[in-house]
Amino acid sequence: MKLVLNNLVLKPHEKEKFLVKLCEKKLRAPCAYFKILKKSLDARDKSNIKWVYTVECSDREEPAPARNYFRITKPQPKAIVVGAGPAGLFCAVRLLRHGIRPILIERGKRVDERERDVALLRAQSVLNTESNIQFGEGGAGTFSDGKLNTQTNSPLNREVIETFLEFGAPKEIGYLGKPHIGSDNLKNVVAAMREYILQNGGEVRFGAKLTDLESRDGKLSAVKINGVREEADELVLAIGHSARDTFEMLLSRGFLIEQKEFAVGVRIEHLQSSIGRAQYGSGYAALPPADYKLVSHASERAAFTFCMCPGGFVVPSASEEGGVVVNGMSNFARDGRNANSALVVQVKREDFGSGHPLAGVAFQRKLERAAYEAAGKNYRAPVQLVGDFLSNRESYYFGEVKPSYEPGVSFAPMQAIFPPAIVSAMQAALPDMNGKLTGFSAYESVLTGVESRTSSPVRIVRGEDLQTGVAGVYPCGEGCGYSGGITSSAADGLRVAEAIAKKYA
Ligand SMILES: Cc1cc2nc3c(=O)[nH]c(=O)nc-3n(C[C@H](O)[C@H](O)[C@H](O)COP(=O)(O)OP(=O)(O)OC[C@H]3O[C@@H](n4cnc5c(N)ncnc54)[C@H](O)[C@@H]3O)c2cc1C
Repeated sequence: MKLVLNNLVLKPHEKEKFLVKLCEKKLRAPCAYFKILKKSLDARDKSNIKWVYTVECSDREEPAPARNYFRITKPQPKAIVVGAGPAGLFCAVRLLRHGIRPILIERGKRVDERERDVALLRAQSVLNTESNIQFGEGGAGTFSDGKLNTQTNSPLNREVIETFLEFGAPKEIGYLGKPHIGSDNLKNVVAAMREYILQNGGEVRFGAKLTDLESRDGKLSAVKINGVREEADELVLAIGHSARDTFEMLLSRGFLIEQKEFAVGVRIEHLQSSIGRAQYGSGYAALPPADYKLVSHASERAAFTFCMCPGGFVVPSASEEGGVVVNGMSNFARDGRNANSALVVQVKREDFGSGHPLAGVAFQRKLERAAYEAAGKNYRAPVQLVGDFLSNRESYYFGEVKPSYEPGVSFAPMQAIFPPAIVSAMQAALPDMNGKLTGFSAYESVLTGVESRTSSPVRIVRGEDLQTGVAGVYPCGEGCGYSGGITSSAADGLRVAEAIAKKYA
């Protein structure tokens, strides 16, 4: 007999083996199969914080469900997947499982070599514009917290989690309500996916940038990789939101590109212990590092926090000379001293100042350059204390919260970087959010700018068959405007792989 049991509750100090005993009581037999389907922390009542589980159990071994793949009957196509981020990697792995051997091209480096370039920027302010936090194996999310929660509700999301598990992600991501892999684990998972592609007949090329493409009679005929022409049948554009030169190339080739709204703002840092106290009360030590997600409608522009990294670091995420971009990451243990999160405000099309399809890119670039100038033109980031930001004053000292951003910070007012409408929306949101999370707008909390690459500023239009007006070209993932975050981007990679495989089945 197989059972699913909901709402099983454990106190933070209680052991999970107690759940097996509960199952055996219900089964009236020893458990031969036991699986946690869901585990989430209920901290709404600080005097009664508890873990809530859904589990599956049986008195028999349960076989894993089998998945059906297409059988490719037509000749093997030359399928090129551009970008080894979550969208491209998951697309390539899924194509292989259907019997199509993809060529995965990535402008950046292998994850281990890329790590050295990221370290060089953090330690010595040396930016490699082709190998950084945005570009390289694993894509933008590699140096991240690896949060896998998504607001999309697709059955593919479960497949993404299972694929991550298959390639070595921690087992907890299979059931935690807010799963995260951690940057330390993510890079191993990414490398394992690459090895799988290579061992199963696919090809992976690094330092390989899509620089052009050709079509004949409305169909893709060839691509140029680093300027060298190759014939191609299928092309997946899993290029991420920072591939500005590739957007320009596609626009010049007549692809339909639309403006897309996004959000900009800053990273806000607090002590992780302050967030723990605010969320859990005094007994927070035994619980996982606390997180939060806040929304404010205190002004006409919505402001919200996202990509909250408990125990994390603010990281340099620029990919262009002369610009400063920040983002956040943490390791699996989330054991850093600070908590950080993006505090961002919606940018509207009227802010872009022109109807050009890439006007959003120009808007981002302007902020990134202003941040670079304001902080001393050496990839240090501008910082300001929340109290000073709220009183329109410059900051001169840090309190308890020391910024974690490397290669370093310079005091500079955010008012000199952002348009007034963004500044006033953040100023309205901070006290409002403080009402929801005590201490959020505490004077000494640190703002670091600029968080400008929250999502893609464009959408590359695709039809219901997921192709552009040029048959055989598939815009995919976050950069093309079809996802946001690791899980939904990976799911879009699966979706595109299914569409291609169906064509050849
Ligand atoms: C520091 C940081 C932390 C983040 N944390 C999280 C998190 O915790 N959870 C979450 O869900 N999301 C997080 N994100 C966002 C997440 O990384 C993205 O949503 C996700 O990576 C998008 O996946 P993608 O495959 O569509 O694009 P990307 O991951 O951006 O991958 C695109 C790839 O394409 C390559 N490329 C671009 N142009 C070309 C070209 N012309 N030729 C060849 N290759 C090209 C790039 O080098 C890049 O590797 C974070 C992002 C950053 C930067």
